[in-house]
Amino acid sequence: MEKDKYENSIYKVKESRNRIGIMGGTFNPIHLGHLVTAQEALSQFRLDQVVFIPTCDPPHKVDNDIASAEDRYLMTVIATASNDDFFVSRMEIDRKGKSYTIDTVRELRSIYGKEVSLYFITGADAILEILTWKDTEEIISLCSFIAATRPGYNLARIDDLKEKLFANQQEGNGKISVMEVPALAISSTDIRQRIQKKQPIDYLVPEGISHYIMKHGLYI
Ligand code: NAP
Repeated sequence: MEKDKYENSIYKVKESRNRIGIMGGTFNPIHLGHLVTAQEALSQFRLDQVVFIPTCDPPHKVDNDIASAEDRYLMTVIATASNDDFFVSRMEIDRKGKSYTIDTVRELRSIYGKEVSLYFITGADAILEILTWKDTEEIISLCSFIAATRPGYNLARIDDLKEKLFANQQEGNGKISVMEVPALAISSTDIRQRIQKKQPIDYLVPEGISHYIMKHGLYI
């Protein structure tokens, strides 16, 4: 079955690994900041692997500057191909429609079982909006969060969120961790703007990604 082919790596994990990073994002496009974030999470949180899950239709986005789900998926595969600990799932793309994190986390839990620790890694600005996500409480009960930020980010906003979500700070610290990643000075928005202004994007994205973007005329 086609789906089995893509999710094969995930099923294999079930037997041997128990700390899984879930890299959730629109990846429009994926850049070196995302890759450094995943690598840093792997090391700081002693993860066994990181599964990148590009969104299909991000529920909170209204802008029309989003490349197709297939283009974003293929770029994510290209960018992660050389890392043995990075995998890409088509889960949200194949589910089609709005990509709600709760549906993804439920599906991952049913694949991996209860014993595995799931860490949802994404940008701190996205996590700050978690109270507006579908079924917030259930998501928090099913996985922990790694909020990736660039140094200098106002961490008080994350502390405020923890206060709203958790009865005590310690519980919040275990469920939402902040990880500073200097490479997150790179942003997808900036890359798209640079393409429109015909400025170079070399060294901001892997070489294969700049070729893919130019070849397919994305973001012009
Ligand atoms: P976004 O709002 O476009 O991104 C917010 C910030 O986080 C941006 O600075 C973005 O930088 C950064 N970012 C996004 N993903 C990242 C990652 N994996 N690692 C490091 N930085 C990251 O967020 P989004 O990409 O659309 O959504 C993030 C995740 O939250 C997705 O998995 C999405 O499905 C989930 N989400 C779920 C709901 C829901 O269930 N209702 C609602 C909102 C978001 P770049 O632009 O450079 O990536």
